[in-house]
Amino acid sequence: MPAGVRAIAESLGEIPAYVYDLDGLRRHAAAVRDAMTGTQIHYAVKANPDPKVLRALAPYVDGFEVASAGEFQRVTEVVPGMPVSFGGPGKTTDELALAPLVHRWHVESPAELRRLTGPADILLRVNLGVPVEGAALTMGGGATPFGMDPEGVAECLRLLPTSRARLRGVHAHLASGLDAPALLEIARAVLEYGRGLGVAEFNLGGGMAVDYRRPGNRFDWAAYGEGLRRLAAPGETLRIEPGRALTAYCGWYLTTVIDVKRVHGERFAVLSGGTHHLRTPVTKGHDQPFTVIHRGAGGRPEPEPVTLVGRLCTPKDVFARRVPASLAPGDVVAFAMAGAYAWNISHHDFLMHPKPEFHYLG
Ligand SMILES: *Cc1c(COP(=O)(O)O)cnc(C)c1O
Repeated sequence: MPAGVRAIAESLGEIPAYVYDLDGLRRHAAAVRDAMTGTQIHYAVKANPDPKVLRALAPYVDGFEVASAGEFQRVTEVVPGMPVSFGGPGKTTDELALAPLVHRWHVESPAELRRLTGPADILLRVNLGVPVEGAALTMGGGATPFGMDPEGVAECLRLLPTSRARLRGVHAHLASGLDAPALLEIARAVLEYGRGLGVAEFNLGGGMAVDYRRPGNRFDWAAYGEGLRRLAAPGETLRIEPGRALTAYCGWYLTTVIDVKRVHGERFAVLSGGTHHLRTPVTKGHDQPFTVIHRGAGGRPEPEPVTLVGRLCTPKDVFARRVPASLAPGDVVAFAMAGAYAWNISHHDFLMHPKPEFHYLG
């Protein structure tokens, strides 16, 4: 845990806090940038749209990927001038009007291409029938509402001659939670498919694995970057749009232990926060990794399996189940890997608890 996070934890009151380690984020993004030499990076804003996070990332990415008018507005306000990719399966009429303003527009269906009346540089989002086994979530490789199968693509190609849209290439975001060899397999298939259409630009999506169970197990950016350099032909543009694997590690959620009790033989620690601030372990079904900062007076209880819960009136409010820990009231639990799909995917207003404080390091 960074010293700055520990310092905030030492003096934490009962109001929980998020800490974003922007220095750590910059170091990580710089290493990813270096590993991915030759490939453009557009950060997927939905992972964490915090303005300070976007500003910290800007020097290390080539642009930002957005999926709503709200995210578009955030990016143009906070990091003006950065190229924007605009995707998402259901664009409203107001959103379609933004197409001429973006670097790349990701078309998700023939109907969307018909509704796109202004000029736009487009990528066709393809959903190829490639196997995506081992993925945490699948957006492709079968019937999903994301992108188009080869028949949908063929229809778009027929529409293009009478459209003001300019075809630049293909986009594919088929799955999330994949390691580098699996993503390279998909990249190979997407490149082959796009070359068959005669295009030279490829957005290969995000979905780089983040392992919450083994936090030390990091996505192999070096292998992915090297593999993509080998796959790319001269004159081709390759782009990726990672979200989670860029920002997950920079965020911490801090909360104090209010009560420790045993119920029907199981030990529970009830925390001042809850999964309405950090929904990630509930949605992903994992134990959120954490560090304990001991503050209470007196001796430490022996470590024993404990279930860490929030103070929402629902049995779903669980951060981690039966993990060995020594916890007493007054201690602080610092949940790690809370920088992506954490605060911004959570149901903040449930039970009307106070919002956490936000701190930024660097
Ligand atoms: C969510 C999303 C991403 C980012 O995915 P991560 O798993 O966070 O890397 C990239 N592209 C598209 C189209 C997405 O929907």
